[in-house]
Amino acid sequence: MYRRLLLLGPPGGGKGTHAERLARELGVPHVAVGDMLRREVAADTELGRRAQGFMDAGQLVPDDLVVGMAAARLSEPDAADGWILDGFPRNLGQAQALAERAQDRGLDLVLVLEVPDEEVFDRISGRRSCPRGHVYHVERNPPRIPGICDEDGEPLYQREDSAAEVIRRRLEIYKRETSPVLEFYERQGLLRRVSGLGTPEEVHARVAAAVHDL
Ligand code: ADP
Repeated sequence: MYRRLLLLGPPGGGKGTHAERLARELGVPHVAVGDMLRREVAADTELGRRAQGFMDAGQLVPDDLVVGMAAARLSEPDAADGWILDGFPRNLGQAQALAERAQDRGLDLVLVLEVPDEEVFDRISGRRSCPRGHVYHVERNPPRIPGICDEDGEPLYQREDSAAEVIRRRLEIYKRETSPVLEFYERQGLLRRVSGLGTPEEVHARVAAAVHDL
């Protein structure tokens, strides 16, 4: 059973939704770097203040802010037996930093959710998020009560980085910065590509099969 997993894919590709569910099933923490950054912004910390402009513009937050934060999270006691890292590393520098810190020594599998650009636009414009990381879509995966998280009753919000031109920039950055990361793991034989199209159930079945069947 794989317990140290990376989930990568384009913005709006469903990483958060599937990482969250898989983490629950495997009993390991879901480490979502984007969620951690948004919590820093909400808490108005020094790191959050430095990260916010990059995030709202759809750009990557500089590595010196992100790498230490991710590494510290993976060193916490609840991550000793495994984790699902979501949205990190997003460029080669981060992938190398993770390798140098030897925290990917036990990396078992890198799953990539593949989703075409048009689908990304559709999903991000309907996406509603819970401050604790649960994610919905107004039409395709609506919460039971509109605007309220099913899991913990928190009010849902629409992210700042969901404007069309910001989505376009995030897709460009994914292609330019994150594609080399996929090649980096492909060369190590760790990469599995999974179609992210279909209902959340269908995608989950593919993700679960990739994790259990290898
Ligand atoms: P998405 O996958 O939809 O882009 P995330 O929540 O993973 O959403 O990330 C949102 C934003 O947080 C990114 O656009 C970027 O500004 C920042 N971010 C998240 N992860 C990283 C990372 N590994 N390196 C740099 N910036 C990041």
